[in-house]
Amino acid sequence: MVFDLPHIKKYMDKKITIAVDGFSSCGKSTLAKQLAAKLGYVYIDSGAMYRAVTLYALRNNMIVDEELDTKKLIASLDDVKIHFELNANGEPQTFLNGTNVEREIRKIYVSQWVSPVAAVPEVRHVMVAQQQKMGEAKGVVMDGRDIGTTVFPNAELKIFVTAEVDVRAQRRYDEMLSKGEPADMNEVKQNLQERDRIDQSRAESPLRKADDAVVLDNSHITRDEQLQVAYDWAMERIKSAH
Ligand code: C5P
Repeated sequence: MVFDLPHIKKYMDKKITIAVDGFSSCGKSTLAKQLAAKLGYVYIDSGAMYRAVTLYALRNNMIVDEELDTKKLIASLDDVKIHFELNANGEPQTFLNGTNVEREIRKIYVSQWVSPVAAVPEVRHVMVAQQQKMGEAKGVVMDGRDIGTTVFPNAELKIFVTAEVDVRAQRRYDEMLSKGEPADMNEVKQNLQERDRIDQSRAESPLRKADDAVVLDNSHITRDEQLQVAYDWAMERIKSAH
């Protein structure tokens, strides 16, 4: 996607931070990616980082017999190196210890363990510190669950995205099929409801709308329409930051 930027050139010197939070599979990353491209900002997918840690735990026998060995995971956190690179199409790819794991981390077996892993306070502390570093220079759009509440509590714009659960399940199911991955609608819906439940009820930075976030319900609007709403909010905040 290529956007012409002259319309915002005069505001380019003053970059803001944009936090996009919300429930699972509600289109946060699509919105955050498009918004970042339109503003010439960097997009960061914080969920991919929790997914990469989960993949690491799965590959290193820290999840055995349906049990997460929290102690072993915490002791190994220094060995988990995550970074992002853009591929030839300009799409961000997640790397775990030097290997591209972008496709693997989206699979259902990772989705099934990511919320318990993300609920471990020590995992969150390490991820949040890295995310704050990535956003130091501003000009970022980061999506996740705790970006507006914990990672960037001073973000100039906080968007809380939501959509009806059946709409979200259908979108996730379609996305998996389009990637050629086997998908079962009931399993997909159950997984996202279970992740929402764990994400909202964990003790450490649970998923919740920041008090000063604006809500965007995209159940019945198109991607273009939601982008326009978010872009207008962003331009308002960028202008008032001048
Ligand atoms: O955004 P995505 O659905 O890929 O995130 C996967 C999981 O990572 C979420 O269900 C949540 O458990 C966790 N997560 C989190 N905090 C974030 C981003 C994601 O706890 N900032």
